This record gives sequence, C-alpha cells and structure tokens, in this order.
Amino acid sequence: MKLALDVDQDRLLAEIDALASISEAEPPVVTRVVFTHSDLKARAWMKARCEDAGLTLRQDAIGNTFARWNGSNTAAPAVGTGSHIDAIPNAGKYDGVVGVLGGLEAIRALQHSGFRPTHSIELLVFTAEEPTRFGIGCLGSRLLSGTLSPDAARKLTDKAGATVEEVRREAGMSGELEQVKLQPGYYKAFVELHIEQGPLLERQKIPLGVVTQIAAPASFRVSIEGAGGHAGGVLMPDRHDALCAAAELILAIETAGRTSGAVDTVATVGICEVFPGAVNSIPSRVQLSVDIRDTDLRRRDAVIVSMEQTSRAISARRQVSIHTDLLNADAPADCDPAIVEVLSESCRKHQFNFLPMVSRAYHDSLFMARIAPVAMLFIPCRNGYSHRPDEYAAPDDIARGVLVLAETLAALSR
Ligand SMILES: [Zn+2]
Repeated sequence: MKLALDVDQDRLLAEIDALASISEAEPPVVTRVVFTHSDLKARAWMKARCEDAGLTLRQDAIGNTFARWNGSNTAAPAVGTGSHIDAIPNAGKYDGVVGVLGGLEAIRALQHSGFRPTHSIELLVFTAEEPTRFGIGCLGSRLLSGTLSPDAARKLTDKAGATVEEVRREAGMSGELEQVKLQPGYYKAFVELHIEQGPLLERQKIPLGVVTQIAAPASFRVSIEGAGGHAGGVLMPDRHDALCAAAELILAIETAGRTSGAVDTVATVGICEVFPGAVNSIPSRVQLSVDIRDTDLRRRDAVIVSMEQTSRAISARRQVSIHTDLLNADAPADCDPAIVEVLSESCRKHQFNFLPMVSRAYHDSLFMARIAPVAMLFIPCRNGYSHRPDEYAAPDDIARGVLVLAETLAALSR
C-alpha cells in the first residue's frame, strides 16, 4: 500500500507553541518540572490532544501516559513512539516535545491517509526524563523497563524531602509502582524522534540522523572533606583546603575524558558546592557532581577507575578525605538494526540525506532498549543548543522527521 502522508506542519507548530506556553517561566523560557502545576497542566492538555485524535488513554502509577491507536490485531505487540514533556529550569520548547507532539502528528497523518495498522500504534509520554526533581533521569522508563525497582524508586526524594510516593499520589497518580513494569513483548518496536542536542547534523547540513547507538552515562557525587579556618590565620603549609583538592580532581577528570582514545568519551563536573562559601574562610567541604559517558562500557569504566585512583592520590597528598558515591551507571544501548533499516529506507525513498550517528545525550530509549527493539531519529537543532531558551528546530526539519517517523510506524505496524 502506498501512503500519501500529509503532515500538518502548521497545526504541529501551533501545538509546540501552545505546549511551551504551559511553563513556570515567562516565554520563551520553558520550565516544567515533573508533577509541578505546569507539568500537570501540560499532561492534561496533552491528553486532550490525544483524545481529539481518537486515541485510547491509559496512565500508570508513575504517570507514564499511553495513547493507543488500536490495530486490527489488538493481541499483537504494539509499535511505540514517544518521548517526554518535562523540561529542566530555563529550557526551550523542543527537547522531548518534538517526539511527543511529532509522534501524535505522525499518528494523525497515518489516520488521515486511510492507513489501518495491524499492530496497535501507541504514543508514550514518559514521566520525568529530566533528573531535576528526584536526581535521577528517565524515572518513568527506568520503571517501565525494570531498570529501577519500585523499592529503589520509593526511596527517592526531592529537595524538599518529599518522596516519589508522596509526590505522585499528591499529583493524582494511583495504583502501585509494582504495576508499572511492562511485560516482555509488550512492544514489537519503539522509535523515538528527538532533536539532536548537538551540532553535527547542522554543521554537515544533513537533515536527519538515524541513531545506531545510545551512549551511557554514569554519575557520581563526590564529597571532599578538608579543614576550614580563618583565611588570614591559617598558614599555607598547615592547610587542607577542600576546594583546592576539588580543583585538582576536576582537571584530572577532564584529562581522563580527553585521553581515553575516543571522541565518544565525555566527562563533566557540573556542580561544585563549596562550604562555608565565605570570602575569608578556607573551604572545608566541597561536593561535586560528575557525569561520564561513552558508547563503550569498558572505555567509560576506565575513566571511572582513573578518577578513583586520582582521588586516592589527592587525598593522601593533601590530607583530605574524598568519598565517591555512585548515583547511577547505565549500560549503553545498541539500536535495533531492523528498525534502523526501516528508518533509513524511508529516508532513501524521499532522497533525504541522513547520517548514521551516536546519541550522546540521555534518552528514555536507552531504557526501553532493555525490553524492546528500539531506534531513534534525530533532527538538527540550531547551533546544537538544547536545555536553554534559544533552543530551536526549523519547521521543515520537524516536518521531515515526522514524515519519516510516520512511514516507519506504518511499516512496523503492518
Ligand atoms: Zn529529551
């Protein structure tokens, strides 16, 4: 069957703007942290759009939302697509949203064309892809895939000390977390459309990226405990300055990332909290956050080992204590070659140039890969900017991504 697909670009762009206006901050800034007022309002708005499209809605205990277009064989595994609509503070309007509203538009374009799927097609809106509130990214997909146990999820708290359990119930999510995990074989395939969040597609003027591997992050909290004192009174030979120790460690982590032998290795210290933080006081305590990513698990682990060795050396030399807590370390994922081929085939059919590439950012698909064959489709974003208000994806690029996504969902759901 030949599909004549009509992606309604104007409607999609209007919806992206409408969703962006549901924010804790003034436009163009989007701030939508999970289970806050704006997140709940955005969820309700999104559900109404799905109902308008005739989709059947289901919500699980953590708030993952499933909107299903029933296929002719409702017993067969579904074909999934989707992403997230939560946004970190001071973010833009495309991260995640392009995959959610783009997924919905792909379904509507297929409906409009007269296509009838055999396998159901399901739009999935994940809860809390961003780690802002509970300190762990992809909360929804971790629970769906069984990567995070319900017990471990219940122990998570936000900055105010509220537990996941309290916050989700307060937000109206009922049921038990034990019911969230999907049965094996629930999805025949899962495809996520997303902005690249990097500069490669734009730089090479290539409109689409077909993801073959998703890099895996490991993150740590490093606590350094030295000795404080008066900035005038304590002489240099007697000091155990926690911030100076941290500075050495930060540069060593950078070096370990730079010298791994592969461009796919990246290492970042994103937070440095200094105590007591006074101009005339020697820092006695520092907390760092460390994020190390790679597509290759062994190479990434080598950077971690190097960080730990350097910590011990600095600790001994400076007489400070350095304690490293592993927050999470996820394995990288390979995309499913068969889905990658379906995406590539659609690109070739339209003579859209595409780049096979690595996803260096964190995505729900990383976890969905544990329970389903997955693939991702990237579109360019201006300057590679993401997680900032001037994040931008061009309308034509979005529409092109939706078209390829729609054809891929059709091919997979036949
Ligand atoms: Zn995202």
